Amino acid sequence: MNDQEVLDHPFIKKIGKDVLNPATTVDFIKERLLSSIYKNRQLGGFLTEQSFIAGLGNYLRCDVLFVAKIHPSKKPSELSGEQINQLSQTILDLPRQSYNTASITNNLDKVEKLLAQGSTLEDARFWVFRRDGLPCYDCGTTLIKQKMGGQACYLCENCQKI
Ligand SMILES: [Zn+2]
Repeated sequence: MNDQEVLDHPFIKKIGKDVLNPATTVDFIKERLLSSIYKNRQLGGFLTEQSFIAGLGNYLRCDVLFVAKIHPSKKPSELSGEQINQLSQTILDLPRQSYNTASITNNLDKVEKLLAQGSTLEDARFWVFRRDGLPCYDCGTTLIKQKMGGQACYLCENCQKI
C-alpha cells in the first residue's frame, strides 16, 4: 500500500485522526487536504467532518479559515503551497489553544486587552464565530454569516477573498 492508498482506506477514511493527538502532524493534515477525497471539495463543507479529522467543531472551522485567511468556498486544489502550509498549521494550532484555554480561539493578548476594556469572554473569545454584524478584528469590515455544510459559517469577506 502506498501513502495514498492508506489515506483512501475505508477504515482510515471513517475514523479520521484526533486533532488534539500529539501524533497528528502538519504533514498528515497536508496530505489529507491534498488527498483525492478532499482536494476538490469546498473547505467549509468538510472541515467539520469527523472522517477528515476528529475534533474540529463549527466554531473551529470558522475561526481556522479566518486565521488562515481562506474563504470557506475554496478547495484545497485551488490554494498555493504556502496557503496549504498555513492552513494545515492552523488546523492543529487553534484547537490546541482552544483546548488549553476554555475555548478561546482569538489571539490571547487581544483577548486580555478586550476583557480589560470591558468585553465579556463570550464576546472576546472568537475571531469570527457568532460575530456576524460586528467588525472584523483585523480590518474592521462587518462580518457575515453564510450557510455551508449544513451549518452557519462566519467570515470576513475582505480578509477571506474568494
Ligand atoms: Zn477582515
